[in-house]
Amino acid sequence: MELKKHLDILCNKIGERHLGSKGEKEAQNYIEEQFKEIGYEVVKENFTAPSWNYGKYFLKTEDIDFPCFPCFYSNSCDIKGQLVIINPKYIENYKGELKDKICIIFEEIGDVNQANKIAKILEDYGAGALIIVSPYENTYSTKIVRNPYLKKLGVMTVSKNTAREIIKNIKNVFHIKIEGKNFVSKSYNIIAKYKGKTDKKIVIGAHYDTSPGCAGAWDNATGVSILIELARYLKDKNIKYSIDFVAFGGEEYGGLGYGMGGYKYFKMHKEENILLMVCFDSIGVYLGEVSCYVGKSNYIKGILNDILCKFNVDAKDYKMGSDNNIFNDNGIPNIWFTDWDEKTSKYYYIHSPFDNLDIIDIEKINGISKIIFDALEKLLKIEIERKKQELEFVRMRKEDLKEIEKIVKKIWTMGVDKLREETYGLIGNKSWDEWVWKSVKEYLKDRNTKKFVTKINGKIAGFCSYRIDRIKKIGTVGYNGVLPEYSGMGIGTFQINKILELMKKEGMEIAEVLTGLNEGHTPARRMYEKAGFKEFFKSVLYTKKL
Ligand SMILES: [Zn+2]
Repeated sequence: MELKKHLDILCNKIGERHLGSKGEKEAQNYIEEQFKEIGYEVVKENFTAPSWNYGKYFLKTEDIDFPCFPCFYSNSCDIKGQLVIINPKYIENYKGELKDKICIIFEEIGDVNQANKIAKILEDYGAGALIIVSPYENTYSTKIVRNPYLKKLGVMTVSKNTAREIIKNIKNVFHIKIEGKNFVSKSYNIIAKYKGKTDKKIVIGAHYDTSPGCAGAWDNATGVSILIELARYLKDKNIKYSIDFVAFGGEEYGGLGYGMGGYKYFKMHKEENILLMVCFDSIGVYLGEVSCYVGKSNYIKGILNDILCKFNVDAKDYKMGSDNNIFNDNGIPNIWFTDWDEKTSKYYYIHSPFDNLDIIDIEKINGISKIIFDALEKLLKIEIERKKQELEFVRMRKEDLKEIEKIVKKIWTMGVDKLREETYGLIGNKSWDEWVWKSVKEYLKDRNTKKFVTKINGKIAGFCSYRIDRIKKIGTVGYNGVLPEYSGMGIGTFQINKILELMKKEGMEIAEVLTGLNEGHTPARRMYEKAGFKEFFKSVLYTKKL
């Protein structure tokens, strides 16, 4: 995997990649080159975007040069004067008093739309510049205001610490200068085309742009690097779906209420049969666990949970925040992988210069990538448009026993018979799998056993069985299992739930199941607990060599 190389080039060599920057073009070229090198046909889809660049800037008094940064889409300004403290609550009170003044707002304005609006009002009142305090102590968010519709106002942001220094000097004359240029240009979504056997399409994407002045390591060079390496990983994996690997442009603009690249892609492709959208955005800081947020499909969420739970990656309910939003709002199942959450956001300041390679845990990204790649490969190899009810659950027939025997001999490696053979050698001149099959076969052949198989595309993927005691009203789950190639797709849980339903229908009041406490039985225990079973009684098997 070349994750580290991509990160290094995107963050250190290229750096900031906001709409209109030199880095934006360099990143587009780099990503296109990488996709091509892997062997993909690459399509670049352009869209018109509000772009911006900046030159010199400063904020100073006679004695002090304050650390600062122009906000995204700031206009040019060069003004000397005293600062006017604005209370945004009473903004209309300043009407007629702000001509070419430098305004400063110390209040935190949580919502960017609100901040954009306030900036526009101040501009309409004739103000020349606005200084706005970012919510961070030691650094600033460079897109805390991002309003391309400002015609004249210069907007600067500072950290809270700098704001304290400004307050100390508030009586002095300040000099603010920004060279900022708004213009319209073309941005691009860079798409690697994977041709499957069907037109049904999967969209997998990550945005490559950044907030101005930021290397955008976490947000989102990591996502782009994972995207490129996933494209490499899946290249020869014989996926039947067609896949668009999309490096999205313009996500950070946000003026549409959506990531711009995701929005434009969706508008162009919405007539196609898109089954699923997968998004990588902000993954891989030292703190925090990667989660995936799944929208519009409990079925896919269930499958992902089954595949991912053993790796400590949770499949949770949809969260908005990246290029997946537009797909979700149009009813398309979608997954967002990220470790950006309440915990990490308190320590890692997104959209600030602190978002550089120093905060990235390369080992974590390497590890999580393998898990994600494997999970997505599994997911894409099954019928993801299939509803769980469409799995066939039917009575076991005599002819099915041959297939069941194969399953049993493949999977029962965690049982007593194998352990016995490992400890004492061959038992009764038969290997352990023969003994397991003998027990299972006898149980299944008994006329009191109720037994079923689960089929996918007419092929047996798993089996299950149970018995009932009509007097005690207790149903006991018997042997059950799933072929390894179908494991982790929720079939085991599906079977148990079916059995529990049937037991209930037959008037059972209690369900029981016996399983092992050893490590090999962990998946089984997890499955039973998921179906609602609680631990009831532990027993132990002693043996002794005679
Ligand atoms: Zn992002």
